[in-house]
Amino acid sequence: MGTPAFTPVNPMANPDLNGWLSRRIDGKSMRALKVEREALLLSLKATGLAQPATILNFNPVPLSLDGGIGFKVPSIVDEAVQENSRFHWKHEGRTYRASVLTIKEPRVFPQIKDVKVEEGVEAGVYDMKACKQIEIASCFLVAYTQGTPSSSGMGGVVAFEGDRRVLDRTEDRKKRLTIRVPAFVRLPNRTREYITEDADFEETVAAALAMQRRYCNSQTQQAQNYWDQGDEERKNITVVHRVWHQFEMDMGWRQTVAPWVTLQNEAQELCAGCGEPKKRVDAFFCHKCQRVYNPLAAYMAREIQVTHPAMDRIEDADWPKVRKEEERRKALRTGL
Ligand SMILES: [Zn+2]
Repeated sequence: MGTPAFTPVNPMANPDLNGWLSRRIDGKSMRALKVEREALLLSLKATGLAQPATILNFNPVPLSLDGGIGFKVPSIVDEAVQENSRFHWKHEGRTYRASVLTIKEPRVFPQIKDVKVEEGVEAGVYDMKACKQIEIASCFLVAYTQGTPSSSGMGGVVAFEGDRRVLDRTEDRKKRLTIRVPAFVRLPNRTREYITEDADFEETVAAALAMQRRYCNSQTQQAQNYWDQGDEERKNITVVHRVWHQFEMDMGWRQTVAPWVTLQNEAQELCAGCGEPKKRVDAFFCHKCQRVYNPLAAYMAREIQVTHPAMDRIEDADWPKVRKEEERRKALRTGL
């Protein structure tokens, strides 16, 4: 399964720049930026706009977003998760587990707005921008409920404003619990401003779990279909399918173990370079030593260039194919 990308309001959001900024405290403009960052952080907090936000992950897989945002919500089967970062919820007669992650601080980052040349040296001119906690939480929610094709519709994710104490019902136990979930409005300049709106906790979780159950079922169905199609297709059954199969067993939705879990018909193709088993059926490179499994396939998929050393392993009979493809690409490039 791929990792969905972190898509903040601002495409320049790059927390790596933050670290870089912290190290570059020399120079006037850098000092100015640092002051600006502190001021922005302070004003966000003073106006109450930067409230902590919390993500509940009910899934047996961890949640993460590409783009260096740096947050990962552990899976429910991750044993390293402390008890105070776990949450239990009764739904339709079963106890669901969730991992809890609270994003405490907003992300403040420099956004480049111009490049100035001073004494022949190019230097970026930056503005400080902020990404509120609820926006980050919303990114997780969207990625795993809509998201990229690889994770789309997984569900099992709930995001709300505040920390987990929001879920402690102190006063009236009979009263339904209300949470504030992420929403956004479009500003006149077409950017989004993240806000929150009231939602019934029970209903929100029920919707997330309904989606999760559909997803879980589709994963095990897919593995079963691969299995039914015979040897070649069975190679597509991955550890992710097994994780969801286990979840079905744990939740009591399935009583018998599927044949594709016990019979392990996965092709254990070993790397000729280092002996490590292939991790993904469609991998082009060994995850350990970077050896190219099949140079012709890798070349055709544009994963390596014709000058790559692995191309030496191409069979004589396959070279005409490579030559033809190389000519085709050259023609495309020159627009002929
Ligand atoms: Zn290897």
